[in-house]
Amino acid sequence: MKTVLWWIRRDLRLADNQALAAALNAAERVVPVFVLDPALLASERVGPLRVAFLLEGLRRLDSDLRQRGSRLVLRRGDPAAELSAVAAETGAGAILAEEDFTPYARQRDSRVPSLQLVGGRLVHPPGSVRKADGTPYVVYTPFSRTWKGLPQPGAAMPAPAHVPTAPQVASLPVPDQPERPPAIPFPSGETEAQRRLAAFVTGDDAPVYRYAQTRDRVDLDGTSQLSPYLHLGMISSRQAVAAALDAIAAAPNAAAREGAETWLNELIWREFYVHILYHFPHVLEQSFRANLQEIRWQDDASSFAAWRDGCTGYPIVDAAMRQLAQTGWMHNRARMVAASFLIKDLLIDWRWGERYFMQTLIDGDSAANNGGWQWTAGTGTDAAPYFRVFHPVAQGRKHDPQGTYVRRWLPELGRVPERFVHQPWKMPDDVQQAAGCVIGRDYPAPIVDHAWARERALDAYRHARRNLA
Ligand SMILES: Cc1cc2nc3c(=O)[nH]c(=O)nc-3n(C[C@H](O)[C@H](O)[C@H](O)COP(=O)(O)OP(=O)(O)OC[C@H]3O[C@@H](n4cnc5c(N)ncnc54)[C@H](O)[C@@H]3O)c2cc1C
Repeated sequence: MKTVLWWIRRDLRLADNQALAAALNAAERVVPVFVLDPALLASERVGPLRVAFLLEGLRRLDSDLRQRGSRLVLRRGDPAAELSAVAAETGAGAILAEEDFTPYARQRDSRVPSLQLVGGRLVHPPGSVRKADGTPYVVYTPFSRTWKGLPQPGAAMPAPAHVPTAPQVASLPVPDQPERPPAIPFPSGETEAQRRLAAFVTGDDAPVYRYAQTRDRVDLDGTSQLSPYLHLGMISSRQAVAAALDAIAAAPNAAAREGAETWLNELIWREFYVHILYHFPHVLEQSFRANLQEIRWQDDASSFAAWRDGCTGYPIVDAAMRQLAQTGWMHNRARMVAASFLIKDLLIDWRWGERYFMQTLIDGDSAANNGGWQWTAGTGTDAAPYFRVFHPVAQGRKHDPQGTYVRRWLPELGRVPERFVHQPWKMPDDVQQAAGCVIGRDYPAPIVDHAWARERALDAYRHARRNLA
């Protein structure tokens, strides 16, 4: 074949890109194409921060391609129609793309003629990790055991030195709006993804070796912060998993080894939730668990707004929500605590929170986000038991012992003494005055009493279970 299209979707990288490698093998010329899909861009599940991260990533990819004698062709419209047009203009005989597994992607891809899908999104794609009877796993631990027993990924491929020049093909410029605000600490692109991975795993005292101890501490940068890059494929799953396996093999001691093994497990959680969404697409609309479909949610719009705006009066929840609004990212422990508060303390439908996270997170990913929300709601696969309700004060004290995280995102608590920082409403009046943080004036009183709310949530869950028992 003379020419093929390399259709880029969520694989914005040149290194270890199996679709690009297959395209280079198949033809003399490769046309790299990205189609801005108005249906996705207009979706209520997509927000400007993730779009800005995508557009910046496309600009970097274009510049990386130009260094290799090629360039990005950008189109906007229905992907099937746009690809057919580019194929006709270039005489391309096939379209190669990395396989994606969301319901939307599968439906979209089924309408694209001459499309050949190539692996790469996951190390072990849906269908390859199954129980002995052939059915998919619905619990993480046995899934991960089987996953680890499969052949491990081979060495990652380097970026090609040259991508044979595409003939002149009309392209839109990559839009420069929305732009990533400078406060968003995630420069886009493959080079940054590689830098972060290297910083996380390199050396005997690499952060990955402390991960088992630090990953739940919201006040420390103990995690890799690679999720936006994995989401858009600026780094491949195989590169991340290979780095985890190398770190395990090179661990200087047992504690370090545990750190790297724990990190590998998180990468496997990512794969697990992609499998769950693939096999059980109804989770996007409904509880995974049939016996928890009908919870009597309160769905109060003003409580939701207080949660969204970081004004609940519970510092760990409010800090988490402000971190999200200001940076497009949130620490995993904070995600669990904030989600639990919305669902259990406010008794608001987890789908409201899931949608807001999708709109706001730079790493917003249907599979991982849905998995995280359903886990927290107790409605999902490995659901936390429904009667486990995070205590926002205890979670704050445990995972932010000095209050550094809450003070960082809630400057109004800056001078609140440590013993009150996770429950500032308990400050006596004179302490409030001295700290310059008067409850009700500078920082809200709790919008709900946790002990009361916990009982209300347990009642609602018990009622749902009884009704469907
Ligand atoms: C309510 C809720 C919503 C979430 N929404 C998303 C989301 O939209 N997108 C997303 O990528 N992650 C989501 N997560 C999972 C997790 O919080 C983030 O992946 C993690 O915080 C990203 O930070 P990191 O890159 O430093 O992770 P690390 O701790 O360094 O982990 C490495 C990678 O493993 C994957 N990973 C880690 N934990 C999980 C997990 N529990 N589930 C699935 N993958 C995981 C991510 O790709 C991550 O980058 C959600 C979790 C919860 C509880």
